[in-house]
Amino acid sequence: MDKNFKYQTEKFADIKILRYQVDGFSKLSLRQKKLIYFLSQAALAGRDILWDQNNAFNLQIRRTLETIFTTYRGDRTDQSFQNFLVYLKRVWFSNGIHHHYSMDKIAPGFTKEYFCNLVEKSDFSDCPTVKGKSFRESIKKLIPILFDKEIASKRVYLDSTNDLIENSANNYFKDITQEEAEKFYASFDTPQEERPSYGLNSRLVKENGVILEKIWKAEGLYGKAIKEIINWLLLAVDVAENDTQKEVIKKLIQFYKTGDLKQFDEYSILWVKDTESHVDFVNGFIEVYGDALGIKASWESIVNFKDLEATKRTEIVSKNAQWFEDHSPVDSKFKKKSVKGVSAKVIIAAILGGDCHPSTPIGINLPNADWIREGYGSKSVTIENITRAYYQVSLTDGMLEEFAWDQQEVQLSRDFGYLANNLHTDLHECLGHGSGQLLQGVKADALKNYGSTIEETRADLFALYYIMDEKLVKLGLIPSLETGKAEYTSYIRNGLLTQLVRIEPGKDIEESHMRNRQIIAKWAYENGKEANIIEKKVRKNKTYFKINDYEGLRRLFGQLLHEVQRIKSEGDYDAALDLVEKYGVKTDKKLHAEVLNRYKKLDLAPYAGFINPEYTPIFNKKEIIDVAIHYPDDFTQQMLHYSENYSFLPLINN
Ligand code: ZN
Repeated sequence: MDKNFKYQTEKFADIKILRYQVDGFSKLSLRQKKLIYFLSQAALAGRDILWDQNNAFNLQIRRTLETIFTTYRGDRTDQSFQNFLVYLKRVWFSNGIHHHYSMDKIAPGFTKEYFCNLVEKSDFSDCPTVKGKSFRESIKKLIPILFDKEIASKRVYLDSTNDLIENSANNYFKDITQEEAEKFYASFDTPQEERPSYGLNSRLVKENGVILEKIWKAEGLYGKAIKEIINWLLLAVDVAENDTQKEVIKKLIQFYKTGDLKQFDEYSILWVKDTESHVDFVNGFIEVYGDALGIKASWESIVNFKDLEATKRTEIVSKNAQWFEDHSPVDSKFKKKSVKGVSAKVIIAAILGGDCHPSTPIGINLPNADWIREGYGSKSVTIENITRAYYQVSLTDGMLEEFAWDQQEVQLSRDFGYLANNLHTDLHECLGHGSGQLLQGVKADALKNYGSTIEETRADLFALYYIMDEKLVKLGLIPSLETGKAEYTSYIRNGLLTQLVRIEPGKDIEESHMRNRQIIAKWAYENGKEANIIEKKVRKNKTYFKINDYEGLRRLFGQLLHEVQRIKSEGDYDAALDLVEKYGVKTDKKLHAEVLNRYKKLDLAPYAGFINPEYTPIFNKKEIIDVAIHYPDDFTQQMLHYSENYSFLPLINN
């Protein structure tokens, strides 16, 4: 791991561009490196599919904007051109003309007239003809799509009082109404147990009055890109780590060739069963958030390998589960006689593609088909190097300095915060949720609407109590109790201050994790007031909370855990209601306004995405003898590089 690694490269509009490190790549075997290389190429080969899925004109628009960028002969230094650049970057970032999160069409920060000037002074002679027209001629049709607010205004339209398909600008349906689509798929709706996810991998169209599916497969729609994916997957088969993984990849190829969703289900089942392979990947039509009806899946890919270091950590924690249970500060009648820890999987992303790039999830939980999850289980992982990149950037965005009381607190977070944060998650997930037992006769849902908040409170307290325990030092999980102190300061800071930035002025806290964090922090503050354990301080009209006594705070966490476990074990609904309503729901209006105001002044970009690393095979004659990794730091260059090397689809796909 490179300590001086530059995580953030630039910021524009509401976006920051980050990089992630692929720790441990150089230590992989040659076979594993080759596997990652081939799979990473398969991950990039499908990029155009997603662009076309997002909107039918996206590929043509991308080609237009990129050609302007590379050939425009006018003034490239004036404000209008800078605005054009920002627009182009936003389009790249969103894989199309709609904002990746809000789904609203992105407003170009320049006029139609300026756009025409850009086109005028650019050279499109290398661009293909579009539907028999010269490329330059075809651009005219794009102008209303880019500039008219009423046209294609929302990629995924979710107001169900209107036709969801007609009002969505994505490219999953053509000349079809919502009613027709729903009727079409209802006819597949057999009560069969192992029902494939009908409609997942196709565009539904009406041609000459007939409704039909255009399947995304090798000899179908998006075939040119899919064939490229298949070619890389075929190479991957040869270097797969074991027979199970070989079967997984072969099955996926078969699915891409046939478009048969039964093959996809068989692939998903095989994929869930493969827990042995060090390298793993997702490549396909997976998530349905891009379709208002939740039927059509966007194309995505992510290639990864196990983070052995972090997985070792969760294994140690879970192996010692019984010790933690026996020593927890709860009444012995609520303890489990025999407890089993859960070992969480942690992975390192090697490449992100399609709908996972540049914006990416921090965890994966697949497959999506319920009947497969129930019958065969699922894989749930967190992506270590992505969360670390976010964490590292958060250390320098000004939030910490703004809300920490002093330099010492800042330094504690910088030195130990990341490990503290991860270990907290491990203790919470691997031990906290699994600890304790209900008294006989108490129903699991006795706490009703307060159940999930109380459960999260319990798991967090379990983690907080133990993160300041010498036992963790003995187990080699933390270098010293400073790690625990870092967690305590950040937990209190977040629970009482920084998490409020996500709540609109005047609103209550509703989400159960946010409620639980405020309950714990506020309860500890109020109940430690007399002993001055946490002190509220004000400096230049800014509020801070400073921990004066870490051991004392740990005792308070122990006391609250004792009580919360009792509430859960006895199913004491009234006590749950009291605790949650008193500490977890209401915000201090004045303090909330202050926090929002301080946050706004920091002017942070709320969204982030990543530049991928690049892999280069090193040949000896025709044989790959190594794969080199390097980390580009220019988002624009990577986007141009991808468009140049991975544009496998025609500009218009029908
Ligand atoms: Zn939890």
